[in-house]
Amino acid sequence: MTLLEQIAASLHDGAIEVVDLTAPLSEATPVIRLPPDHGQAWPFEREPISRFDERGRHAYWNNLRMSEHTGTHFDAPAHWLSGRDLDDVARVPPRRLVAPAAVLDFSRETAADADFLLEREHVEAWQSEHGPLPDGGWLLYRTGWDARVRDAEAFLNGGHTPGVAPECARLLAEETGVIGIGVETVGTDAGRAADLEPPFPCHWYFQGANKYGLTQLQRLADLPPQGAVIVAGPLPIVDGSGSPARVLALVERHTTGADAI
Ligand code: MN
Repeated sequence: MTLLEQIAASLHDGAIEVVDLTAPLSEATPVIRLPPDHGQAWPFEREPISRFDERGRHAYWNNLRMSEHTGTHFDAPAHWLSGRDLDDVARVPPRRLVAPAAVLDFSRETAADADFLLEREHVEAWQSEHGPLPDGGWLLYRTGWDARVRDAEAFLNGGHTPGVAPECARLLAEETGVIGIGVETVGTDAGRAADLEPPFPCHWYFQGANKYGLTQLQRLADLPPQGAVIVAGPLPIVDGSGSPARVLALVERHTTGADAI
């Protein structure tokens, strides 16, 4: 069999499972809240074009309105001042949208402290147990925040949500081979990241290094610490700063032939 035939057969028999990391997208999807003097992201809205009625008897379809950063979404380098001359979302190379992932589980720490910040020592301790971060792959930061996504108040938590400390964000973006950071929270940075130095350090360092962000991921608990492959699908919005995205993970389940359907 060819490599792709092996993958197709494994997808068919369940030896490779496809895990959907994308939060459902609806009018209830929480969006980031910035101080009142800032611009604000539109929540998801839809207006019917027709629904098997006088506007179109054979068709159901809607017009949509949302921001580039509504729901599970992809941050492109051009999103931040530090990356303003780097790739917009349409120019992200497709081969970087399919990549391995390490899953760093700090849900115990974030349950005890909603303002928990990931530090260099946490990443080093994780690597001593699980091996190096994947070159050309994602760092996915599990915090347990996906359990809150259907309750906007709990999800946004009054601005108290976990993130990454500035020096750790700089280290990950500038001194490792990861192509981006994926999180379960509303943005890649902590809720209190406006008060860090630099402000919003994940945005500053990752976008400034031509790297990416993924937000509002779910089901990271169903991924192994190493070995999953991520397929991220932002829309190629020309000159876009990001895009809502479908994010899937391929996970080996090591099923026997007898277990497979
Ligand atoms: Mn964003």
